Formats: sequence, C-alpha cells, structure tokens
Amino acid sequence: MAGEPLVLVVEDEPAQREVLAYNIKAEGFQVVTAEAGDEALDLVRETPPDVIVLDWMLPHVSGIEVCRQLKMSGDTARIPIIMLSARSEEMDRVRGLETGADDYVTKPYSVAELLARLRTQLRRIRPAAVGERLEFDDILLDMTEHRVYRAGQSLSLGPTEFRLLTAFMERPGRVWSREQLLDRVWGRDIYVDSRTVDVHVGRLRKALRVDGAEDPIRTVRGAGYALG
Ligand code: CA
Repeated sequence: MAGEPLVLVVEDEPAQREVLAYNIKAEGFQVVTAEAGDEALDLVRETPPDVIVLDWMLPHVSGIEVCRQLKMSGDTARIPIIMLSARSEEMDRVRGLETGADDYVTKPYSVAELLARLRTQLRRIRPAAVGERLEFDDILLDMTEHRVYRAGQSLSLGPTEFRLLTAFMERPGRVWSREQLLDRVWGRDIYVDSRTVDVHVGRLRKALRVDGAEDPIRTVRGAGYALG
C-alpha cells in the first residue's frame, strides 16, 4: 500500500524469512526480503527501507558487517536496525562489538515481541505510521481519528492530501522532492505524473488556509516542498 512503512527483512533461513515477512505484512507494513548480506546492502541503496530486521549469521557478508557499513554511511546511518541472533551469548558479543544497531532480539523470539520492537523503532522515525498524533504549530493531525485540525477547527481533506500532510508533519523542515512525495504518498509501483504532486499540494494548501491562516508549506525552487 502506498505510504506504508517499508521493512527490510534480512534472513538466510527461508522458513524464518517467510514467517517474518508474513507477519510484518499482516501488521500493514510493506516488506522486502534479502537472504544475504550483500543483497541487503544493494537493496538498501536502491530503495532505502524505514526499518531493517537483520540476522547476525548470514552467508558471505555477516549481519554485523552489513550493520557496520550502513551505520557508517551518512545516507543510511539513520535507518533503524534490529539485530537478530541465535543465542544470548552471541547477542552479548554483538552488543560488545558496538555495531550501532538500534535494538537486539535473541532467537528464538516471539513474533509478537519482534513486532513490538519494530513498532517502537517506527514510532521514533515515523510516528504517524503507528497511529499517533502529530503536531506542527497550530496544526494537529490525529492518525487514529484520521482527522486534521487547525487552531482547533476541523479541516476536510481528501485522502491524498491527508497522506501528503502526514509525510510533511512527520519530518517538519525536510525538503521533499516531487519524486520522493510520489514514492511516499502514491506508492513506488504506480506511475503518476509529477505535476499531480503540485495539484495536490495546491489543494492541501487551500484546505490549510482556513480563515486566511498562514500557508505553512514552503515551495523550494528547483527542489520541491517543505513544511515550515
Ligand atoms: Ca542466519
């Protein structure tokens, strides 16, 4: 689904990989999988995921090496990584290596536990993805109620405008290119003309300017749009 968080699962054991992918999808997230470390690194560079679930023991390039490389590179350092390891002694070693992983789970783990950890990481980077309220100035976006308020007044937004505003409010100040907004709001597999983005940003602006309130969205010439 468009705009849902993308989770990369890196696990070489097919049964475990499938169980994880199935359950993460059932939570409403998008999933891509890799069975080896080098494949994972390629995938991350191609389409950066929102969170990575990374097995320690992988053929060729180990999970630790994948983690280290991703955390060293500026583009990928901010992507949360949850490391999986077979035994707690191994996990102690992983921790001791200071790979920069954001969380650690020991196998055998319960899927429910792993999903809870996943949601914790997502809450940090994409609060709206796990049903929270987002605030920016006098704008309040309630994911649970699926409503937007400005200065206490309820606004009526179309579904696309709602997703656009969600993306903006999750990362205030971030400059989004039209291409990034297309990926995020319309989805990666759908072809939409980039001018469509301008049309919907225009509608969103109009909806937000209740009673002549200030336009919170900034057009960044040659780059795209930003909130604030
Ligand atoms: Ca493994």
